[in-house]
Amino acid sequence: VITNAKQYKVFLGSHILEELLPFIKQEIDEYTKIFILTDETVGPLHLEKLMQALKGEDIVVYTVPSGEKAKTFDVYYNCLTFALENKLDRKSLLLAFGGGAVGDLGGFVAATFLRGIRFIQIPTTILAHDSAVGGKVAINHPLGKNMIGAFYQPEAVFYDLSFINTLPKREVRSGFAEVIKHALIHDEAFYRQLQTEVPSFEFLTGNTLLHALKKGIEVKSKIVKKDEKELGIRAYLNFGHTLGHAIEAEAGYGVMAHGEAVLIGMLFALKLSKDKLGLSFNEKELIEWVGQLGYETSINKQFSPEKLLQRMLQDKKTIGQEVRFVLLKEIGKPVVVTINHDDLLMHLKQFS
Ligand code: NAD
Ligand code: ZN
Repeated sequence: VITNAKQYKVFLGSHILEELLPFIKQEIDEYTKIFILTDETVGPLHLEKLMQALKGEDIVVYTVPSGEKAKTFDVYYNCLTFALENKLDRKSLLLAFGGGAVGDLGGFVAATFLRGIRFIQIPTTILAHDSAVGGKVAINHPLGKNMIGAFYQPEAVFYDLSFINTLPKREVRSGFAEVIKHALIHDEAFYRQLQTEVPSFEFLTGNTLLHALKKGIEVKSKIVKKDEKELGIRAYLNFGHTLGHAIEAEAGYGVMAHGEAVLIGMLFALKLSKDKLGLSFNEKELIEWVGQLGYETSINKQFSPEKLLQRMLQDKKTIGQEVRFVLLKEIGKPVVVTINHDDLLMHLKQFS
């Protein structure tokens, strides 16, 4: 991954953890303590393996609640207290070991503790192929998700696929939606390949998983390279997220997995793309495929179009009464289009 701030490597594979300590010893100058941040689910399942891989190092571990509960001010504060009490210093190295929530929190702790210490992402979910790359780190504010954060790149990402084995189906589904997103905004061939190779999640293992994540990471890093701070084309990564975030918030965080909501958002954005930009795309085929994978493919009747619209108007990317959507001119050719309030409401009603 190449950004203005830093260049770093993403190590991806099924025995990649073995390369972590040699990397740290070789590439991280004069580090002192290692601070592992993990959560209550990942810790009991996988921490031992990570500790084994770091044998002989001076390590402290702090465990936070799983999921979005990790990304609060309280938990952030507790992490800093723990770091201070354990006398971590500027040369300490933080390892964020878990899904996107631990990665976002850990990255923000690393960005702000003593004005910034080095950190490595060790993702354990499929979704984290997205979140661990690109340097956006954040915690939530009660008034909005990811509102307090930084752009802060890791020293490296170590993505060991053996951790994915314990991931619940719902989290697989959530993360795979972001892989589909990377395919739809970047190239049709990748999309076709996913559709052929993953008729159901039993097939998402071994080389198929490796390939899907590798391609997804390549798409993300290519976009981040051109626009690290989201002043332009990084917005394309929000494909499906305008409505997705609204659905996620309406459902209540944690009720619906992020990627499941984003998938519905992508189907809506594709529909809009057909209507507004004349996209030629067989969405029936996509709906059938993702339906088979267990995704919901329309907005649940419990969410009123008016409320979803209100949510979208509150989004930090919205300007006035116009909502900015990422649409596709063709598969792999995203554009940002503003859609006005009334028009959007009409489309939402049709889609529900
Ligand atoms: P997560 O960290 O909440 O993980 C999902 C659940 O799976 C949690 O309960 C976790 O404990 C559990 N889990 C993690 N690894 C496991 C494993 N190997 N086996 C069993 N259970 C495991 O979240 P996520 O879905 O990975 O990511 C979502 C978060 O990522 C959100 O907070 C979102 O805002 C953030 N995100 C950030 C970016 C970014 O660019 N920074 C991009 C996308 C998403
Ligand atoms: Zn997302």
